[in-house]
Amino acid sequence: MLNITPVPALRDNYIWILHDDRVAVAVDPGEAGPVRDFLNQHGLRLVAILCTHRHYDHIGGIARLRELYNVPVYGQPHAENPHITEAVGEGAHFSLLQHEIVVFAVPGHLNDHVAYVLDGQHVFCGDVLFGAGCGRNFEGSVAALHTSLQRLAALPDETLLYPAHEYTLLNLPFAARCEPDNAGITARIADAQQCARDDRPTLPCTLALEKATNPFLRCDQPQIIATLRRQRGLLTSDALSVFTALREWRNDC
Ligand SMILES: [Zn+2]
Repeated sequence: MLNITPVPALRDNYIWILHDDRVAVAVDPGEAGPVRDFLNQHGLRLVAILCTHRHYDHIGGIARLRELYNVPVYGQPHAENPHITEAVGEGAHFSLLQHEIVVFAVPGHLNDHVAYVLDGQHVFCGDVLFGAGCGRNFEGSVAALHTSLQRLAALPDETLLYPAHEYTLLNLPFAARCEPDNAGITARIADAQQCARDDRPTLPCTLALEKATNPFLRCDQPQIIATLRRQRGLLTSDALSVFTALREWRNDC
């Protein structure tokens, strides 16, 4: 049986660990220590690392882990990421722990960003999509980020998303500001606050929940468009214009 466990790292990162009772795969190990401790506690051997993109809080632990385990590192090659040993990009597929992984290129946060789709139902989406939010557009166009999110949104509703940061509770007030009448957002704030009190992750989250509460996946909603008209002077209501206005407003909040 495959387990997927979040190991907290740095300030608010999760390193997702895929494991059975013998071997493990780490996604975006920004630090080595928490991964090593988890593996030791559970008697697991690391067999691979998946890398979504080259930001340091996602790759900072790879060198140390490879000294300890000498495992392959999957990811999209980039001059600023010296760790990749298995170059993967759009459409690549491979098997780990006897599970099938398909790679989606999802640029828009960084150009080298990929997502890993495990068994068609678990998506390790790095910094492209967060609980009730999305990543900043550091590189490439906002249109690319929009396309990447639309691509994830087209997966089945029951798909589970595994972002690399615990940002849900930080993002929800903005979602509520965009759409004050959305009862799903109100309910999700209560859930996320309970998670915080219990020291539990709000993740993974279903795509259905994101589609109901994440403004960046709701660019066709009349209340969001009306809010942006009022707050940001939005003139056109096509999806990319709405998305761009949302992303720019979020940068200012
Ligand atoms: Zn990042």
